[in-house]
Amino acid sequence: MPELPEVAALAAYLSDRAAGHLVDRADAAAISALKTYDPPLSAVVGRAVTGAGRHGKFLDVGIDGGLHLVVHFSRAGWLHYRDSLPSTPPRPGKGPIAVRVRLDDGSGFDLTEAGTQKRLAVYLVTDPAQVPGIARLGPDPLELSRDEFAARLAGRRHQVKGVLTDQTVFAGIGNAYSDEILHAAKMSPFALAGKLSDEEVDRLYEATRSVLGAAVTRAVGQKAATLKGEKRSGLAVHARAGLPCPVCGDTVRTVSFSDSSLQYCPTCQTSGRPLADRRMSKLLK
Ligand SMILES: [Zn+2]
Repeated sequence: MPELPEVAALAAYLSDRAAGHLVDRADAAAISALKTYDPPLSAVVGRAVTGAGRHGKFLDVGIDGGLHLVVHFSRAGWLHYRDSLPSTPPRPGKGPIAVRVRLDDGSGFDLTEAGTQKRLAVYLVTDPAQVPGIARLGPDPLELSRDEFAARLAGRRHQVKGVLTDQTVFAGIGNAYSDEILHAAKMSPFALAGKLSDEEVDRLYEATRSVLGAAVTRAVGQKAATLKGEKRSGLAVHARAGLPCPVCGDTVRTVSFSDSSLQYCPTCQTSGRPLADRRMSKLLK
């Protein structure tokens, strides 16, 4: 799933590649992905793309006339930019393409979703705040001072892994970068957010900034096509169960939940103690 760094990179890439071009056609091949109907998707046709930005993990494609095509990728969604798209619409219900936007130079992008869980969400709105998930977003973690960051954690009786990925607390951090931030902060994912010492909050704040900052630097400038590989190559523990921790050499472990999993290094994060599996419970979002 694209998180803050990847969505920032997709926005930069789209701004660079698509801004100034008129939309030639826009088609929804998976009607379920389109969450709004007024204005209709056809309202973007004949209008120019003005640029693209990001709200947390939401991509916001600006369209002339005050329209915003907002995308939430969810777990299996992605954006594919193509230099040449067919001028005929994609066939409904066939393959991973949910929405296709073709521009006046024949290029354009497909919003796709792999697998059977259909959770990719596309909205066409006149104000991004009309998207419920955006209206609820907490602040961008890269724009917070240390004390503002600490205030977001204070009093929370949930585990820090769940708090970091709660979009109403911080916008843009998902399962992958929360694993990476906690590893960089040398902190157990199950530490209670509201009970962290000042020194632990310092470490978590610095780790959040350094991990996300470095990921944004790596990601921005990448084409949409190379972003996934770039994300994977920068990870220390996430999706690396069984491989050596790049810091200490211990084996990266995993905790499985009913709906997801997290990865961590016991030596770096939990004083060498393995965490119990929690297959029956859900990872708190
Ligand atoms: Zn380690």
